[in-house]
Amino acid sequence: DTAVDLDAILARIRDIPDFPKPGILFKDITPLLADHAALAGTVTGLAAPFRDAGVDRVVGLEARGFIFGAPVALTLGAGFVPARKAGKLPAAVIEQPYDLEYGTATVEVHADAITAGSRVLIVDDVLATGGTGRAAVDLVRKAGGTVVGFSVLMELTALRGRERLSDVEPHALLSV
Ligand code: AMP
Repeated sequence: DTAVDLDAILARIRDIPDFPKPGILFKDITPLLADHAALAGTVTGLAAPFRDAGVDRVVGLEARGFIFGAPVALTLGAGFVPARKAGKLPAAVIEQPYDLEYGTATVEVHADAITAGSRVLIVDDVLATGGTGRAAVDLVRKAGGTVVGFSVLMELTALRGRERLSDVEPHALLSV
């Protein structure tokens, strides 16, 4: 059974105004993480649409995508791959730069973690502008993987990240 109590999950995501800087309404998932039923429901809901998709790797985006990505991988019978900010991974990497509001950033995976033919589900907590997700999709493809889906807990619809990820049609448990 994959019924998930979305109201109970939403009730445990806390809005923090002006964090980490003025004008940002930060979605704090730590109350959700601390509640077993909400955490279990989130993992179930993130994985559910992809149960029969033949996923063999789940890529979690630093840092909160790690927390959800590993149990989603276990749920789907897949392995877990961390996608990290530049300079954090110790072995040979494949990297994908992307634009931020000011400047650029880079997301990386270990080159041997995704291979030609890997079927990859990307997981994160929040989809905002879609810049991070776009870079992750491009990174997986650069590594030779097939992006089977992009699964997030919460989509901030006003920021229209979905439009930048139209080729993967993100799955969001909650849209606000
Ligand atoms: P974006 O690249 O704009 O889609 O931003 C997505 C990434 O930034 C995700 O890894 C989120 O964890 C984080 N993020 C962006 N906006 C928020 C927010 N309002 N609250 C919490 N996390 C956010």
